[in-house]
Amino acid sequence: MSELTVNRIAAHARRLGLRLIAEDAAELIQRASDAQLGYADFLDLALGEEAAAKEDRRYASALRQAGLPHHKTLDDFDFAFQPGLDARKVRDLAALTFTARAGNAAFLGPPGTGKTHLACAIAVSAVTAGHSAYFTTLDDMVRKLRAADDTGDLNRQMRTYLRSSVLVIDEVGYLPLDRRDANLVFQVIARRYEKGSVIITSNKAFTEWGQVFTDEVLATAILDRFLHHCDVITIDGPSWRMRNQTMATTADKTVS
Ligand code: ADP
Ligand code: MG
Repeated sequence: MSELTVNRIAAHARRLGLRLIAEDAAELIQRASDAQLGYADFLDLALGEEAAAKEDRRYASALRQAGLPHHKTLDDFDFAFQPGLDARKVRDLAALTFTARAGNAAFLGPPGTGKTHLACAIAVSAVTAGHSAYFTTLDDMVRKLRAADDTGDLNRQMRTYLRSSVLVIDEVGYLPLDRRDANLVFQVIARRYEKGSVIITSNKAFTEWGQVFTDEVLATAILDRFLHHCDVITIDGPSWRMRNQTMATTADKTVS
């Protein structure tokens, strides 16, 4: 195999954006030669490896851009710890049929019950399936939108929350919002309505959203759009963070 040919293959591959072939042309040819591959099998090998490398890069980059606090999946979730949780409903969400119709999901429940874990796991599934995801807390989103609005840059910042196919808004309800903040949240929900999925986690029931968003009318307008196509999952069980204490208390009770 002439070095000139390998250099030319690498140059063509680079121009075509085939980074793996550009780097590894000589090695691929050697492997094909050692295995005495036919023409079709060699082309299949080279393009297959390139496609796999490209998918690895896409996955890594999409996961980085999603800004998730961790990359835990449903496999890391102990469903036995939350017997009240509808595991099938959660698995259906991770199978992503709801994103195809731009549906939404809500995880509601007290702290430590796995709401953020499950929302992130679904976002990871979305990225694995080739979609884009973006994670934010409500507080952070509102802070950034408000700052952008102050500098006349609202549209650009808004795009951050509109462009991904799945947007996770974590911790709705921890802090109450004023009317201006609530209006910014309304814009995100209204503009994503029937275009992209939103997954919300909250420690507040929907009936309490009037207080969270200060204004009942605005809260109703947000909920009306958000709940139109939405799977609501309520986790009304123990906190995972407290499980050792709970186990200790149970043990104490058993002893006494
Ligand atoms: P929440 O958002 O409801 O407050 P998190 O999702 O942040 O709760 O969960 C708190 C911690 O406990 C996280 O590290 C999470 O991975 C873990 N966790 C919660 N529930 C489970 C569970 N059922 N199985 C395994 N880990 C869990
Ligand atoms: Mg949480």
